[in-house]
Amino acid sequence: MISVAEAIQIVIDETQPLRVEEVLLDQALHKVLAKDVVADLDMPPFDRAQMDGYAVRAEDVTTAPICLKIVGESIAGKGWHNEMSAGQAVRIMTGAPVPQGADSVQQVELTHELKDRTVVELLESVELGKSIVKRGSEIRKGETVLKAGTTINAAMMAVLASFGYATVAVSERPQASILATGTELVSVDAKPGMDQIRDSNNYSIAAYTELAGGIPTRLPLASDLIGELTDRINAAANSSHLIITSGGVSMGVYDFTKTALQQLGAHVFFEKVALRPGKPTVFARLPNGTMFFGLPGNPVSVSVTFNLFVRPALLKMQGASEVTLKKETAVLARAVKGSHDRESYLPAQLTTNDDGELVAFPLKWGGSSDFVGFAMTTALIIIPANTQTVEAESRVKVLHMP
Ligand code: AMP
Ligand code: MG
Repeated sequence: MISVAEAIQIVIDETQPLRVEEVLLDQALHKVLAKDVVADLDMPPFDRAQMDGYAVRAEDVTTAPICLKIVGESIAGKGWHNEMSAGQAVRIMTGAPVPQGADSVQQVELTHELKDRTVVELLESVELGKSIVKRGSEIRKGETVLKAGTTINAAMMAVLASFGYATVAVSERPQASILATGTELVSVDAKPGMDQIRDSNNYSIAAYTELAGGIPTRLPLASDLIGELTDRINAAANSSHLIITSGGVSMGVYDFTKTALQQLGAHVFFEKVALRPGKPTVFARLPNGTMFFGLPGNPVSVSVTFNLFVRPALLKMQGASEVTLKKETAVLARAVKGSHDRESYLPAQLTTNDDGELVAFPLKWGGSSDFVGFAMTTALIIIPANTQTVEAESRVKVLHMP
């Protein structure tokens, strides 16, 4: 039995990045950047007015009220490209270039125009540099603005657009085939008959796969028949980067996943992790190179083991710079029990207390089959192996769940 940390490291070491592809910008959301994004322009590209108002020279407006002659108008997209002199003002709009000779912008609310709009009266003095964003003050041409390995979010779409990235170099997304095994399983649209249950793992695994940037394909349910398992796994190996199964990895007489792997000539990296829930997790590689994760059947074990082991593989395949779940320290709200030989990952909800500290509330749940109790989980509390009880108010490590 290996530790969780060792198992995660094996997964990371055995995972190779996929190829890089150029996609249109509108296809880039949630993909992982394969190259640094570099500014091709200063931002802003010119001294820009931040307010509607008047471009002036601050030294003309040290005392107020004072009248200046309006000599032109600078609007966004069409500036006033002359030299502004002492005693003059240029009517200016938000986003427009500040003319040569002006050094400040007074907002329109603090002014009013007189004499057929040829003169503006400034009602208050103006501070030097007011309401101007200087050229290059946000970003300079040539600066790296986003790093390779970053997952592109909505705000980053604006960054990419502003610097002319009509296409973006991103990683290919991993194709994941998802196979639930178990003779007792029926699909979501069926009413379970005697001794049957609906498959839920295929849906949670597909959802977690998408959250980690993968493209899931749900395969038809497999019964606990060795031939059916080897056929399904073989077929999926040719069309996917990884296969994720659930069920059939424990010690039962009809747990055939490992037998199937053996028959297919797979190389097994690990098949037992010192983890609760999720001890019988299998990680292997098929002869054609396809990665294989055999997760336990219990739905909670699926959620925990997927996010500990499969998610890093999916993210590493995409070249992501962060592949493991975000870890933090929190105050434990209620005492919990550990396990004598395994690390425990217990479902919890995170909040903050009045002192601004992160607090982990362990959820009431009925064990690794209780997917309803688990559904409100936002984090996992890590309890080290060989721990009997961790008291309330202790500091514990927590992992944020996606
Ligand atoms: P196993 O690991 O195959 O022994 O399964 C452990 C438990 O998880 C059993 O109670 C199964 O019925 C249940 N289980 C297995 N696969 C699924 C699935 N796809 N959806 C929901 N429950 C499952
Ligand atoms: Mg089973």
